[in-house]
Amino acid sequence: MHELSICSSMVGIVKEHAAGREVRAVHVRIGEMRQIVPDTLVYCWSLVTEQSDLEGVELHVERIPVKIRCTGCGHEQVLAELAFVCGSCSGSEVDLIEGDEFLITSLDLAGV
Ligand SMILES: [Zn+2]
Repeated sequence: MHELSICSSMVGIVKEHAAGREVRAVHVRIGEMRQIVPDTLVYCWSLVTEQSDLEGVELHVERIPVKIRCTGCGHEQVLAELAFVCGSCSGSEVDLIEGDEFLITSLDLAGV
């Protein structure tokens, strides 16, 4: 499962940043372009962290909608579905400006 390997690598990153401090929660930001189901990610996170230092650490997922800019007319829009066509001029030459991110945005550490 895709989400499982993501969570495994997240564990490594979180441990590195926590540097031995106790982590309460992890905040991640995921673009809609990423084929990731937040509920599945949270479930995999609990599996991966079970019986480790990170057991019980909450994972908060923030979804970022896909946003495009038309290279023809400059129109920017948030996509409700993944159809890469300009809503203003119907051009199909568009740049993805948001929605492809996968970031660990912050860690909540105990006593901070
Ligand atoms: Zn356009």
